Amino acid sequence: MNRIYPIPAKLFLCICLGWGIVALLEAAEMIETQDGVVGYDTTPLLPWCNYRKHDPARPQPKYVEPAPAAEPTAALSDAIVLFDGNDLSPWQPSSWKAENGYVATGKGHLVSKQSFGDCQLHLEFYIPEGYAEPLSDRGNSGVLLMEHYEIQIFDSHPSYKQQIYPDGQCAAIYGETPPMVNACRKAGQWQTYDIVFKAPVFEEGNVCQPAIVTVFHNGVLVHLNTEIHGAVSWKEIAGYKPHLPQMPLQLQGHGCPVRFRSIWIRPLKMK
Ligand code: MG
Repeated sequence: MNRIYPIPAKLFLCICLGWGIVALLEAAEMIETQDGVVGYDTTPLLPWCNYRKHDPARPQPKYVEPAPAAEPTAALSDAIVLFDGNDLSPWQPSSWKAENGYVATGKGHLVSKQSFGDCQLHLEFYIPEGYAEPLSDRGNSGVLLMEHYEIQIFDSHPSYKQQIYPDGQCAAIYGETPPMVNACRKAGQWQTYDIVFKAPVFEEGNVCQPAIVTVFHNGVLVHLNTEIHGAVSWKEIAGYKPHLPQMPLQLQGHGCPVRFRSIWIRPLKMK
């Protein structure tokens, strides 16, 4: 029997089939090591470390068990509160919904109304249990500083047999640098990021001071004054493109309903 679809439905099917083929081709490119680490072996070499982008052979950071999860951390007295558990007014309109003291990811990113450069940022995130498949969505979200520089959120608890490439695991500078150690709590528990970020400086269209970041994951130091080599990118090296000295903060929507609470930021004046 021939089915007759209206033109918009045909277009929809073509797009879906096209994406399906692209997804199959991309999956075919991926490899998995004997240790269960998934990644790519045809991506460019990262010039600062000589591993490939999303290299599954890159050493896995060792696991450090963090202290048990605690109550939400109160904002410091001079912090700008971006989310107190209820109020989403510091953010641009989106499909993300606040309920029960947290906000869960919706379609697209959550983008702050205010722009920031150098800053200290605190936020808490929660990866729900039961989102182990597909691997690419296993707790995937992220903190996009200045909309360009991603500290990855992912469920990288060592209890899983299969792990994503180290430069894409939780607390990695995505696609660049894994955390010094893996400090994940299990899905179903609140986790914290405390981030100190020094914005990049541009002169005459070139970066003259790269961005620098220090990150604590669940109270464990995972980056110390780590250089960021450019804007976040997947399977390619993006480098820097000049942008404003202050840009919005973004939280990434990536198919997994990751929750956030207690988000506050202290703009810094560093010389
Ligand atoms: Mg992400």
